[in-house]
Amino acid sequence: MGREYTKNRELIVYIVMCDRNGKVERVICNTPLWPVMEGKNIRNLFTDPEGLDSLLQQDLSYGNSVCLSMNIKRNLSVCVTAVSKGNQILLIIYKTGDNSQISRLIEMTLSALNVKKVTGQDVYGAGYYEIQKLNSQLVNYQRTLAKSNARLQTLLKETKEARSTIEVLECDTLTGLLNEAAFFSRAEVILHQHRDTRFDLVAADIEKFKAVNDAFGSETADRLLADLSTALLNTLSGELSLFTRARADTFFILVPFKENLLELLDKKIGLFLSGYPLTMRLRVRMGIYHIDNRNLPIARMCDRALMAADSIKRDYSRNTNVFDDSMHKKMILEQKITNIMEESLRQGDFIVYLQPKVEVKTGKVNGAEALVRWVHPEYGLIYPSDFIPVFESNGFIYSLDQYVWKKCCRMLRSWKRHKINIFPISVNVSRTDLYHEDLVQTLSAMVRDYGLKPEDLHLEITESAYVKDSEKFLSVIKKLKQKGFIIEMDDFGSGYSSLNTLSELPIDVMKLDLKFLRQTENNRRRQKVVEFVIRLADALELQVIAEGVETREQAQMLKKLGCRHAQGYLYGRPMPEQEFIDYLSGKEL
Ligand code: C2E
Ligand code: CA
Ligand code: CA
Repeated sequence: MGREYTKNRELIVYIVMCDRNGKVERVICNTPLWPVMEGKNIRNLFTDPEGLDSLLQQDLSYGNSVCLSMNIKRNLSVCVTAVSKGNQILLIIYKTGDNSQISRLIEMTLSALNVKKVTGQDVYGAGYYEIQKLNSQLVNYQRTLAKSNARLQTLLKETKEARSTIEVLECDTLTGLLNEAAFFSRAEVILHQHRDTRFDLVAADIEKFKAVNDAFGSETADRLLADLSTALLNTLSGELSLFTRARADTFFILVPFKENLLELLDKKIGLFLSGYPLTMRLRVRMGIYHIDNRNLPIARMCDRALMAADSIKRDYSRNTNVFDDSMHKKMILEQKITNIMEESLRQGDFIVYLQPKVEVKTGKVNGAEALVRWVHPEYGLIYPSDFIPVFESNGFIYSLDQYVWKKCCRMLRSWKRHKINIFPISVNVSRTDLYHEDLVQTLSAMVRDYGLKPEDLHLEITESAYVKDSEKFLSVIKKLKQKGFIIEMDDFGSGYSSLNTLSELPIDVMKLDLKFLRQTENNRRRQKVVEFVIRLADALELQVIAEGVETREQAQMLKKLGCRHAQGYLYGRPMPEQEFIDYLSGKEL
């Protein structure tokens, strides 16, 4: 029933405690679209409340049922089962025709009730987090103790029982927490019922979780998730706290506002991680959204908390951050960009600039990199760093990249026709382009259509793509190579590089990232490293291009280290095509 419930939001199930007059004292299971409230009379749900009155007046020690019509939805017919429990009556209301569920519903309700004493305060009864905690612990026991152990058998049985209860209540089987859909609907009700309480939404995300999976196996990774869920429960459990594991390694928690929440999370989760028995440094990034707009859907609140967590991706000085206005502005900007991008592409607002690539010794231009600029009639010049990441995440990058590649093909064709000094243009291929099955075919057809050879177009692919999904990356690159394209590994040394990668990949050119160059100045050891990398590249017959060369001193140093090719402001900034052609003719004079 639980699963079905999440899929079908119209499923009607209520479990409530009420008095003999129908006044609701406690809601155990609600129907999100038409929730019932504590303190209100359940009679309001029905078109014929007298039927309920007569049911409530009966001796209900063994339970009894009636069939009633609900006025909320096309006079829907429901079965109302009532069982007395002390002075209170447990009402279970569900769509008629599903009688097989009655005993399960009662079982679930009673076991839920036994976990925590009825307080009348607890919105969901059953002390959700108590069950979640119990379940988490049991899941852990189940994983660690030997199977033959007799005590374990009992525990397993208990776990199973607790688990089936939880599953019915829409839970994630791995951690025992609520699943995302259940979390959303319950959080909505909590926020609605506690208008005067301030709440926070916390997002917790395990960094490089995929690496844990790859390096230690899924069992260990699963255990980490279950253990982290226990740690979070231990840190944030409370009467109105609600937990979910959404997606693989992301947790969301709704918790009443606490002054020192940030420090608490930092300390407790830090402690948990530092003692965690895994030979890998773990990091959990946490973001908090102080809920200041209750009209937002819960999913958007989660986005905000996650955005705060993501904002410290590269900042290792802290593990927690609070969602603030700048992130909000960024989000709005991203939205704006998304709204106008397609129209802008149609209008030709994206302009391809070219930056020369030169031979260090002679300063002779032997290539160019195509770098896109967005010149929007209203917003002015927008740089790639502001829109490329947005396009990469919303999928538009593939359209833009194809547009840029086509423009470059057109330029090359026209240069050929006008007998202008011809050399290859390097275009950027976003790592997300590699996931498009038709990439190789599209590029091959494009150069053919413009009467070019594949080697006229160099493809710059950033090395980080390789780290993310190496097999996929490798197979696409091999295919592109087979077709005759020249592959340049972009941003080498920007953080992901490994020498192993270099020897494995079928690449032709290695572009040293500009940060790599900066770190090398006045640092003998780094210079030695760069020198070594250049020699290695030589041995592998790779051409090396240093990016971001701005000064003569840098050029000098490169020469000394054996790097023969460069690109940077010293030689020329990225410029529009005509300016680039003028620049070339100026050089020849
Ligand atoms: P990238 O591929 O590493 O491109 C080099 C970046 O360094 C360019 O920034 C370029 O203008 C800048 N640059 C060149 N020489 C110097 C220098 O001497 N000093 C400094 N400080 N910077 C220099 P840009 O054009 O802002 O592009 C940024 C990034 O955006 C590019 O990094 C590339 O990853 C991406 N990008 C640009 N155009 C495209 C495109 O058409 N498609 C895709 N997928 N990505 C693009
Ligand atoms: Ca590039
Ligand atoms: Ca680069």
